[in-house]
Amino acid sequence: MPSLTTLSPKALAELRSDLRREFEALKAQGLKLDMTRGKPASDQLDLAAGMLALPGNRDTTAEDGTDARNYGNLQGLAETRALFAPVLGAPPEQIVVANNSSLALMHDVLVYALLKGVPGGQGPWSKQEPIAILCPVPGYDRHFTLCEGFGIRMIPIPMTGEGPDMAAVERAVADPAVKGIWCVPQYSNPSGETYSDETVRRLASLKTAAPDFRILWDNAYAVHHLTEARPSLVNILEACAEAGHPDRPIIFASTSKVTLAGAGLALLASSPANVKWYLAQAGRRSIGPDKLNQLRHVRFLRDAAGIAAHMERHRALIAPKFAAVSEAFAARLDGWEVARWTSPLGGYFITLDVTDGTATEVVRLAGEAGIALTPAGATHPYGKDPHDRTLRIAPTFPSLDAVRKAAEAVALCTLLAAVEAQAA
Ligand code: PLP
Repeated sequence: MPSLTTLSPKALAELRSDLRREFEALKAQGLKLDMTRGKPASDQLDLAAGMLALPGNRDTTAEDGTDARNYGNLQGLAETRALFAPVLGAPPEQIVVANNSSLALMHDVLVYALLKGVPGGQGPWSKQEPIAILCPVPGYDRHFTLCEGFGIRMIPIPMTGEGPDMAAVERAVADPAVKGIWCVPQYSNPSGETYSDETVRRLASLKTAAPDFRILWDNAYAVHHLTEARPSLVNILEACAEAGHPDRPIIFASTSKVTLAGAGLALLASSPANVKWYLAQAGRRSIGPDKLNQLRHVRFLRDAAGIAAHMERHRALIAPKFAAVSEAFAARLDGWEVARWTSPLGGYFITLDVTDGTATEVVRLAGEAGIALTPAGATHPYGKDPHDRTLRIAPTFPSLDAVRKAAEAVALCTLLAAVEAQAA
């Protein structure tokens, strides 16, 4: 198959009109498909149906004898912290179990840092010269929205396939205004990559000008495997402690994509000093989390093996959807040199890099054909992808058949946009 650049003007014009005809036929199908957000589908939520009857009417006493129905226990039940300790790679006493959203925990940590400062720092971040946070790109749009909402400057750092470009990170942290970095270390959103051992160790031993630099370690996909492979991710708490920076990492995770996306548990793990700091702030905000939900999760998931078995059931439902996207992209795009896409081993996303300058057009064309895609640029701070290249595909929510149709349509739009750009 020739590449677009080697086609004669006549062949290019013919290809363009063939694709246009196909696109008009696609539009005529009147599809209405949504590939925007990484939400679990309802059959995935059904996997946790048994949880809704738990902990049961009389089962409300926690291991420590307290009544889970009552106020209190801001840090979370000991048994819930023990359940998630292996997921987080932290001892139970360094874990906080909160209500349903880890994004809310990230929000609160930023707010507390801005208003109060963090251990080892020089006071509130908001009272210092305008601060910045490093944002590996492509990245998670809601991390960027948080920063933007609080006026925190974002510095994009390219991802390399093994995590962020550490040479760029090392240069950037020489500026004392740089207070942190967002990291989705395993099955990153959206590239799917997992940080290499070297990346984690370099992050842990970074020489930062800011004494209160924080690694915001959003391990949202810690147990969300799509294959038999199990990536090895260096334990960030241990690596930072060994490097002499125990307070540097704050780990976040949740059961949003394990049990119920709107009714799961959010988790935070960090050094003893950071956990004490967090609880001191959070104690003003709440008298305690929903501990019945914590008991419900303990009864339902039981232990690390229970979590793994449950995640296998998710995998059985969603791995075929990821495969359908890869197949549809390959069938249409292989050989044309107009796009590249990831085949992630876990997580919730596929990154589709289209021909430079055409991502916005691909999203527009897909929209015209009834397929909603995440806006081009969403994977970058301020919504600005300098190459207008990267798209995030979220295959979990629609049915398998819908995913296949949507991916075929996106592939057609990708090729059409590239051909039209070449012809222009
Ligand atoms: N972090 C990442 C990297 C995500 O991709 C998502 C959801 O897509 C979240 C956090 C949201 O987590 P939660 O539901 O716990 O707020």
